[in-house]
Formats: sequence, C-alpha cells, structure tokens
Amino acid sequence: MKIGGFQKVSLIDYPGRISAVVFTQGCNFRCPFCHNPELVDPERFEGLSPEAEILTFLEKRKGRLDAVVITGGEPTLQPELTPFIIHLKAMGYRIKLDTNGALPDVLEEMLGRKLVDYVAMDIKAPLQRYSEVTKTKTDGQRILKSISLIMGSGVDYEFRTTAVKSLLAPEDLEEIGRLVPGAKRFVLQKFVPTKTLDRSYIHESSYSDGELKAIVEKLAAIVEKATHR
Ligand code: SF4
Repeated sequence: MKIGGFQKVSLIDYPGRISAVVFTQGCNFRCPFCHNPELVDPERFEGLSPEAEILTFLEKRKGRLDAVVITGGEPTLQPELTPFIIHLKAMGYRIKLDTNGALPDVLEEMLGRKLVDYVAMDIKAPLQRYSEVTKTKTDGQRILKSISLIMGSGVDYEFRTTAVKSLLAPEDLEEIGRLVPGAKRFVLQKFVPTKTLDRSYIHESSYSDGELKAIVEKLAAIVEKATHR
C-alpha cells in the first residue's frame, strides 16, 4: 500500500466510533478544490508512511480504537487494498472506506466479501458535468454503478458533495441529490479553502451556512436524511 499519511486517532471520521485514519497516496481525479493535494499531485507527494509500522501500531491499539478509516487520494486504486483490509479485519477493526466511486468493480469486491462496514462516496457533480468538475474524463455509468452497489449493499453509508460555489449552483446540488433518491444520508460539505490542488481555488468563496441550510432543506425531500457540515 502506498500510504501518504496516518492519523493515530480521530473522533470525527467514522460516525460514532474512535478511529485511526490511513491516507492512501494517488488519485485518478484532479478536482481543483481538492484539499489533499499532497496525496494527488505526484509533484507534491511526500515520503510514504511504512505500512508495517502502521499495522504494528494498530495491533497494539486493539480494543482502544474501534475502527480504521481508509481515505485518500483514492484508496480503490491501491492493488494491495484487499489484503490490507483483511489484515485489519483479522485484528477486529471496523472499516470505513472513503471513495470517489470511479472503480465500482473494486467496490463490488469489497462489499461482496464484507470487508467494509461503512462507505462514504463523494459525488462530485451532476452526471453530465462530472468530467468538467473532476478535470478528468469520467464514465458516468461507473459512478451510477457505485451508487447502486452502495445503496443495495446493506452496509452503512453516506454520499457527500463538496459545495464549491463557483462550480456547483444550488440547482446542481439538487440534481446530485436526485442521483441518490432515498439515500440514508447525504452530506453537503462546506468548501473551506486552506490548501487546494489548483492553487487559484484558495481564493474561491464558499456557500454560507444559511445558503447550505436552504439547499439541504430541498435535498431533504429527495433523500432520507440530508445534512451539511
Ligand atoms: S477531492 Fe478526492 S477525488 Fe478529488 S482529487 Fe482530491 S482526493 Fe481525488
């Protein structure tokens, strides 16, 4: 596994659980607003965190940590993801996988083998604007397949969208909601520019809490539960 970062404890990344967070290195999208550029742009890659040390740490923390969140970058690109998760499951950890949903076949394997307990999938844009927003030619059918796999899997899940005002109008955000009708949980994430893949996005404005709340109210009619954070 190419692990670009490791957080020993988090109270917020796995709802209701105390988790450690593994950040995989590498992504197949180039979202300009991405706040983890050091995991996406090879020119900004930093040194890898040794997998063996992370596994040793997690072995020692069994019983004190509940879960491991695997995020990125895009974790499903990692060829060693399956054995890595099997190792963590054998230690008794719950697994949350964060994904952009571009590789449904990997997701299908993870879900089919019951290797993940929670999936958080980013939905970047209305389907017809995906390539424009991710700056990457994207097959919308793959995104739809991932959505369908997750919603039919029986595991806990959430869909989430980073609401970048200049890229996604309120109508776009509602259209994204219509990609996941009846979803258990849809989260609009406020865009907070601290560092960004495209450095010009550091100056982008964000939706206000009031604006997000108004959009969430409309989304609440489409999904089971809509929130913003
Ligand atoms: S936001 Fe996620 S999908 Fe987009 S470039 Fe960053 S890590 Fe990749």
